[in-house]
Amino acid sequence: GHLPEDTTVGELVQAAYDEHRHVTDGAVATYISQLAAADPTGCAASVVSVTGRAFEVGDAAVRFSIQSVSKPFVLALVVEALGPDRARNLLGANATGLAFNSVMAVELHDHRTMNPMVNAGAIAATSLAPEVAARRPARGAADPADSPDRAWDVVLGGLSAFAGRTLEVDDEVYACESASNLRNRSIAHLLHSYGRLHCDPDVATDLYTRQCSVSVDVHDLAVMAATLADGGVNPLTGARVVSDRTCAHVLAVMATAGLYELSGDWLWEVGLPGKSGVSGAVVTVAPGKGGLAVWSPLLDDAGNSVRGQLITRSLSRALGLNVFASA
Ligand code: GLU
Repeated sequence: GHLPEDTTVGELVQAAYDEHRHVTDGAVATYISQLAAADPTGCAASVVSVTGRAFEVGDAAVRFSIQSVSKPFVLALVVEALGPDRARNLLGANATGLAFNSVMAVELHDHRTMNPMVNAGAIAATSLAPEVAARRPARGAADPADSPDRAWDVVLGGLSAFAGRTLEVDDEVYACESASNLRNRSIAHLLHSYGRLHCDPDVATDLYTRQCSVSVDVHDLAVMAATLADGGVNPLTGARVVSDRTCAHVLAVMATAGLYELSGDWLWEVGLPGKSGVSGAVVTVAPGKGGLAVWSPLLDDAGNSVRGQLITRSLSRALGLNVFASA
């Protein structure tokens, strides 16, 4: 089945937003100053159907850095280029049970990454972007296949194709995060020491930091999620970004690990693959139906938007989206 008719969806998005937008639990992320400066009252939600209908409520014009919500989309580009078997072999598909930026997760699990929804696996996924780039036709001698610029084009071009518009980096977030990403650099070097990184560790960390700094709004994220819901075809542009097989694998790892160490609780409540990020965004994919995105910067202890989870749960129930439900 599809989503209900447009007026119903519009009313339900508004109702879910109205129900939870004044919840004040949680705290904004403070580890980079741009995130700490986010308006704690900010809240927006968007639903985009696989038929290309879009519904927005709240502060939908606000832009924020994509942060960890970039992870499933970069993974999709890597799975598409390398094939699902090699991608899973290199990156993993199981939960860590530990915080998103855990170094112990690497130490405890055989010196390898567990999944590409948390930092170690995500940095390893991004470290494959130079290989993805090298598979593409060269644009001339001044464009060597292994240049970091080409790898960045793969990442930014891929995220843009998912969003259906040309995305850009928020330079302030990027500068600030570059100056404070010692832990991610450590993870990259640790993985490198175990032969688990696939390009220079400083290049990988820089690509990953840029990827996290890409500026989006809630509509962009709902379009990106809707592209995964639509088997890899962007429902607004009609462009095929990745294959349906790639999408199914990406959704599986989102369901396993998309909401940090609370992914099981999320699946219990919402019954859909999702991915959250520390800027307060949560995207959710209803396969064959559409994409949902909420932005609201107050986070729980694991780093998930509090209102984002509540609004998405209400919408999943009201729209009947739980993939485990039989009716
Ligand atoms: N750029 C952030 C980091 O790696 C992303 C964290 C997140 O959204 O989980 O620290």
